[in-house]
Amino acid sequence: MRKKLVAGNWKMNGSLKENEALLKTLVQRQLQFNQLQTAVIPPFPYLSQTQQQLHTSTILWGAQDVSVESKAGAFTGEVSASMLLDFGCHFVIVGHSERRQRHQETDQVVALKAKVCIENGLRPIVCIGESLGEREKGETLSVLYRQIDAVLNALDVDHIQRLVLAYEPIWAIGTGKSATIEQVQEVHQALRQRVAAVDWVAASALNILYGGSVKPANALELMSLPDVDGALVGGASLVAEDFMAIIQAAAVSAAG
Ligand code: PEP
Repeated sequence: MRKKLVAGNWKMNGSLKENEALLKTLVQRQLQFNQLQTAVIPPFPYLSQTQQQLHTSTILWGAQDVSVESKAGAFTGEVSASMLLDFGCHFVIVGHSERRQRHQETDQVVALKAKVCIENGLRPIVCIGESLGEREKGETLSVLYRQIDAVLNALDVDHIQRLVLAYEPIWAIGTGKSATIEQVQEVHQALRQRVAAVDWVAASALNILYGGSVKPANALELMSLPDVDGALVGGASLVAEDFMAIIQAAAVSAAG
C-alpha cells in the first residue's frame, strides 16, 4: 500500500514571524497516521528555522529547488543538494511550472536536478503539467510523457522508486480552478502505466501527487481517487486550518 504524502509549497511567501506561528500550529496539531506523510517546503532562507521547529515532529520538510551542480564551486546564487542535507531536507521540488516558465528550465535540466537529488539521498518531487492551450489541443498526455520520459531516461532503473511525481496542470495552479476528478484519475493512471513500462514494481509503489488549487472543499474527493497518492498544495498550505483540513482529508482517504 502506498503511503500518501501531503506537501505544502510555500513558494516565495513567509517571514520569520509568520512561519513561526504556522509551524507552531502544525506541530501542535500534527496528526500521526501510518499511511500518511506530511511536509512543508519553505523558501531557502527559512530552512534553518523550519528544521529547528520541526526536527522533533513527524512533519518532514524540503526545498523548492536545487542546483544541477553537486560539487561546491563558482556557481553564484546556486544551492547544492549537500547544503540542503545540512538543513535536514527530505524533499526537493523540481520542475515546478513557475520555474519551467520563468527560469526557462527545460525537461533535461529538470531531469538532471531529479538525478542529483536521488544521488544525494534527497527525494525529488518532479512537477509535470500541461498548459490550457495544450489541453485544448488534445496534447495533454503527449506533453506529460515528454516531461516524464526525460526524467525516466536520466535515472538508473533502481532509482525510479525514489521519485515522487506531481501532476500539476498549469491552468489549475493558483487559479482556484481544480481539474475534475475524471481528468485527474485519467492522467494519474496513464502516468503510472508509463512508469510501469520501465519498471512495474517502482510504478506500483510510486507516489503520484495532484497539485492545482487543492483546498479543504475538494481534497477528499481528489485524494480518494485510486491513482492519487496525496497532494502538492500551494496557497492553502499557508493557512494552518486549511492545510490541516487537507491533511485530515488525506488521512481519511488513506484509511478508507
Ligand atoms: C503549487 O504551487 O504547486 C500549487 C499547486 O499551487 P496552488 O495549490 O496554489 O494551486
